[in-house]
Amino acid sequence: MNDKPSFDKTHNQSQDQRMKPATVAAQGLGWIDEKTRALVPGVQVSTTYIRNPDNSYVDNRNYSRTSHTACLQPEAVLKELEQGAAAMLFSSGMAAATACFLALKPGDHVVAPKILYFELRKWLTSSATEWGLNVDLVDMTDLDALKRAMKPGKTKLVWAETPANPLWDITDIAEAAKIAHEARAHFGVDSTTASPVLTRPLELGADIVMHSATKYLNGHSDVLAGALIAKVEDDYWERLKTVRKQVGGVLGGFEAWLLTRGMRTLYPRVRAQVANAQALAERFAKHPHIAHVLYPGLPDFPGHAVAKKQMKGGFGGMMSIRVRGGEAAAVKTAANVHIWKRATSLGSVESLIEHRASLEGAGTPVPHDLLRLSVGIEDADDLYNDMDQALAAAHSR
Ligand code: PLP
Repeated sequence: MNDKPSFDKTHNQSQDQRMKPATVAAQGLGWIDEKTRALVPGVQVSTTYIRNPDNSYVDNRNYSRTSHTACLQPEAVLKELEQGAAAMLFSSGMAAATACFLALKPGDHVVAPKILYFELRKWLTSSATEWGLNVDLVDMTDLDALKRAMKPGKTKLVWAETPANPLWDITDIAEAAKIAHEARAHFGVDSTTASPVLTRPLELGADIVMHSATKYLNGHSDVLAGALIAKVEDDYWERLKTVRKQVGGVLGGFEAWLLTRGMRTLYPRVRAQVANAQALAERFAKHPHIAHVLYPGLPDFPGHAVAKKQMKGGFGGMMSIRVRGGEAAAVKTAANVHIWKRATSLGSVESLIEHRASLEGAGTPVPHDLLRLSVGIEDADDLYNDMDQALAAAHSR
């Protein structure tokens, strides 16, 4: 009887020469199915595990809400890509992000950016506050503002998102980590829009990296997933494990399998997206119907210097444009695209366009003339020409 997960890790890098991240991702760390010698391990959907006659469990695994064999490979890949000590998958990015706050105690103080993924901002300022967290939102691009917000002894978590939705504010990860650690707070970074291809927050001083794996990690708009990767397995990580187990935001087996498959192409996808985005941002910056391009890869972008320091190999695939003529012209531009797809989300192979303020709703800090663009891997000329004709249509009488 073989009651171990049937992965063959003989190609694991502990025995091989250390693999570069693109190789780790492409080969899923080289894990295969040892029983069948299948190159691609199969989908694992079981919710429960056989107990040994002596009452013990294999690897303490008794139920898939506690630990799922389907997640072992993608978690091992993410741990390696982020150079962490441990990784955990969740059912969504929000499940992963909110776990970081639910692992604290009522009365604890947290500092988060004013510009961040809007659902997390809404949750922090409503449910999390009602539950008892003291939440301060600051301009994370201003390190003095962060220093002033810290309450040593009370601040338990500093949260950053960089580049941050949808203005692409850049937080200096290394400097913000120092400020958090001086106050003995943990420092968590939502690195969804950078992806491990461009930034490794743990190497820069972060304690926890969070991803909406729905985005670049999976990359095909067909999986909702979240991930946390820890620098060390400390008490906070143990509490995070308990939150996942008890709140139950775990990833299903099929999604875990799809995510591993998606991550195999992470590096070439992101590199193509970055090249397209840089080329488009430079062309859009000269477009007569565009008032402003927000993209960290443009030299006049306020966070450009910090982005250059901490984003290796490019400035990401996300940008926003502010359309001349205000909200009506922006909405009309989005209405007239054919190749760009009018949809929310980001990080996939296909390019998406979104009038962000109307998605975020009342109280949004997002300008109403702004269109958020997630650049895919299509031909950059097709993307430019489609936007050009949509802008022209929006500005025609
Ligand atoms: N963080 C960022 C930067 C995001 O863009 C999103 C989703 O758009 C999330 C977190 C939440 O992720 P999910 O939609 O997978 O819950």
